[in-house]
Amino acid sequence: MRIDSIKNGIVLDHIKAGKSMEIYEVLGLSKLDCSVAIIKNVPSKKMGKKDILKIADKFDIDLDVLGYIDPDITVCIIEDGKIVEKRQLELPEKIVNVVKCKNPRCITSVEQEIDHVFKLADREKRIYRCQYCEAKQPKY
Ligand code: ZN
Repeated sequence: MRIDSIKNGIVLDHIKAGKSMEIYEVLGLSKLDCSVAIIKNVPSKKMGKKDILKIADKFDIDLDVLGYIDPDITVCIIEDGKIVEKRQLELPEKIVNVVKCKNPRCITSVEQEIDHVFKLADREKRIYRCQYCEAKQPKY
């Protein structure tokens, strides 16, 4: 399957091999009515192997969430079978309600209504910490 085999939509390229299902889940792609193609273990010069996700719709992707999971993913916007835009992701400064704090003593574990907020603590090492208890969030 080639990238231009979808007419309008979004292609997520350079996904680390084996991560596509996780991204499918996190972005809520199972809720979409349009066709979504998951292509696994595509040979890649740069990465050895990679996964690709193709979404045949102009779906509003949460770029923060995607950047958090893997800032190396390339987001290609397809219109009329052509790539009209490529977006580079970056690690967001803050993520809200994407992951939950694992610390059982954290206030977010006790109070159900509180937002789960993680802040970028180390861009180099891609470490996030809970805003409330400073617990480290294990990377995806
Ligand atoms: Zn916490």
